[in-house]
Amino acid sequence: MACDRVERDERRGKGISMPNPKRRHSKQRTAKRRSHDFLTTQSLSECPSCHERKLPHHACPKCGTYKGRDVLAVATKEQKS
Ligand SMILES: [Zn+2]
Repeated sequence: MACDRVERDERRGKGISMPNPKRRHSKQRTAKRRSHDFLTTQSLSECPSCHERKLPHHACPKCGTYKGRDVLAVATKEQKS
């Protein structure tokens, strides 16, 4: 046991006891991991009342309607002045 400890200490001194991967990953494994590493464009739908592009299943930020009903108080230029 004492002998083992001496050996380990010697190895540490040489800097070869660091944890390292035993095998390199294959190209296939790397490619499979990276198959999910991409950005997708945000899908937008058209607002039926003002025809502005908006997020689907969301109230329109431009006119404040959802399914034909006014659900958001949208400040317009006429209301401000
Ligand atoms: Zn709208």
